[in-house]
Amino acid sequence: MNFVRTVLGDIAASDLGVCYAHEHVIIDPGFTTQVTPEFLLDDVARATTELRGFYASGGRAMVDSMPCDAGRNVVKLAAISEATGVHLIAPTGLHLAKYYDPGHWGSFYSVEQLAGLFIADITDGIDAHDYNGPVVARTKHRAGVIKIATGTGFTEREQTIFAAAAEAHCRTGAPILTHTELGTLGVEQVTRLRELGVDLHHVCLSHLDRKPDLAYHREILASGVRVEYDSAFRWSAERGNPTLELVVALLAEFPGQIMLGMDAARRGYWRSYGGGPGLDFLLTDFSEQLRAAGLTAAHWQEIFVATPAATYAFHSKS
Ligand SMILES: [Zn+2]
Repeated sequence: MNFVRTVLGDIAASDLGVCYAHEHVIIDPGFTTQVTPEFLLDDVARATTELRGFYASGGRAMVDSMPCDAGRNVVKLAAISEATGVHLIAPTGLHLAKYYDPGHWGSFYSVEQLAGLFIADITDGIDAHDYNGPVVARTKHRAGVIKIATGTGFTEREQTIFAAAAEAHCRTGAPILTHTELGTLGVEQVTRLRELGVDLHHVCLSHLDRKPDLAYHREILASGVRVEYDSAFRWSAERGNPTLELVVALLAEFPGQIMLGMDAARRGYWRSYGGGPGLDFLLTDFSEQLRAAGLTAAHWQEIFVATPAATYAFHSKS
């Protein structure tokens, strides 16, 4: 079966439905939120309210993007999924060094050790303590994607984590979601993952629209890799909407490779925390803008349903 691994179990990829490709449903207290308090998204009741609104607007799935020990809480994600009916995919993997204290294990474990931890999250279940201490208590909720990141340079730590992610991908078939810093190093990420034997049809590069340079996007998309744009609500009025322009310019040229998300990792973006535009924005206002720009219902289905289903399905070894 062509399946997607959600926190509540495996589902047929064709049952995923309308999906946001990069979200932050829960960010629990920890080093990350100590550094950036605005990232704290720990409230199950507020998340449930927000995701009910998303569901009412047609939304059916989200990919959570906080990997090991960066505020991930799979028990909360499972509770929210159960309460709302929204499929949630939880990640394993590791984020940028800046989201961890300087002595964190993610900066000195070997490729094999990291791959072992990622694989166990995917095949056995995510640790209830989120790998933040020596006692591991695996839940029944398994990881369905491997989240990795590059910052402004491709550091040795990041290279090690990429190698571990590739190993976990090759061994389990789990898809990979990457963070790019303001859209940079996309070409380098693709090159490295290809060298490591990763199937680029199951890799999504995030935030690329933060570098809205058409030639750069074409170079990356020509590799077959999938991309996620999430700044549709971030541009200032005088910039217009480069995210919309990229989608319009590239969708026909690179079918099945472009997805959307909000990456709404701040309380100020959520209506249930008193902010805006709210997590249904892409299905309401922005879908209107896409239609006004000439996108058809088939294009919309491709961005929100078909491409996420194909990308986040586990890769089957042939
Ligand atoms: Zn994110």
